[in-house]
Amino acid sequence: MPVTKHVFCSPLRYTQGPGVTRDLGPEMVGVGLSGPVLVIASATPARVLGKTWQSSFDEVSLAHQVETFGGECSHIEIDRLSGIVRDLDAKSIVGAGGGKVIDTARAVADACNLPVVSCPTVAASDAPTSALSVIYTPDDDFQAYLFYKHNPSLVLVDTEVIAAAPVRFLSAGIGDGLATMYEADAVYKSGKLNFRGGHSSVTARMIAKACHDTLLEHGVQACEAVSQGLLDDHVEKVVEANVLMSGLGFESVGVAAAHAIHNGLTMLAPTHDYLHGEKVAFGLISQLMMERQDSRLLEEVVRFCSAVNLPTTLADIGLDGVSDADLGKVAVRATQPEETIHNEPFEVTPSMVVEAMRAADELGRSLASS
Ligand SMILES: [Zn+2]
Repeated sequence: MPVTKHVFCSPLRYTQGPGVTRDLGPEMVGVGLSGPVLVIASATPARVLGKTWQSSFDEVSLAHQVETFGGECSHIEIDRLSGIVRDLDAKSIVGAGGGKVIDTARAVADACNLPVVSCPTVAASDAPTSALSVIYTPDDDFQAYLFYKHNPSLVLVDTEVIAAAPVRFLSAGIGDGLATMYEADAVYKSGKLNFRGGHSSVTARMIAKACHDTLLEHGVQACEAVSQGLLDDHVEKVVEANVLMSGLGFESVGVAAAHAIHNGLTMLAPTHDYLHGEKVAFGLISQLMMERQDSRLLEEVVRFCSAVNLPTTLADIGLDGVSDADLGKVAVRATQPEETIHNEPFEVTPSMVVEAMRAADELGRSLASS
């Protein structure tokens, strides 16, 4: 085997636990960040967490300003917030909320050459630790990956906040996290590069495996706990898998068919009501079909997805009775030359994708009725 360059990326610091919002100011000072701080937040976190931010920043004498997010991670919004950064002469940025807020905060920080802190209020995807974002069109179609110079300086995950959010977000994060190891395996087998321009390390692949194992061990109980508004060790472990392990794994190994099929699915409007991780879950089952994985493994994955309320059929992502022509559009989009489906260790054609989605749907339906 030729010796190749390996690259591993991660945030500077990751802090998770109940009530850690109270530590935001001291944690930021601890990694060398300074003020004024611009906090970009959705309306609900701004209302619920505003007082805690105030006292936390006061404790370490950091000036801060909270700016409510405009709702879209668009160039107009990034420019608007960059203007506020300049007016405030901000020295660091915090993004607090769901995926779009965190993506916007990271894009603003990159545009202004400032360090950024991710404070996700849901554990619905693995984006918060990474130095890349997924950009969508205003119609919610996948557009492109956007790459930043730096990973966040700090990722602060308050599990009290996460556990208070609807369980559907946690489930979606499990879908995104479940795909990580299988996609990592595909990228590794094909010898393709990760998102940071290097080959994957043993470290990153082991993290992807730990993510998978943690989700299988704790996923079902964590969803039960959160659906009852409870925070326990299962929830803590699953949040760590969804955000940290999946985040480090996907960025430093790469993604493959599951995410490409997700991107293709965004072409069909009925799927827009479904979260990223929900579509990735169906994309994963399709990927495993395409890879001709063992039927026991497929059954295990489908049964686990059902148990944590993730989609296992086309109807589960709004595509009941979808035509072959529409699935063909998904497949053509998923197999564009720049797509990560070509990280699979074999050549993938659009007809293989349609066939895999139909086979995934059939298995999902047969296991649901058994
Ligand atoms: Zn994802």
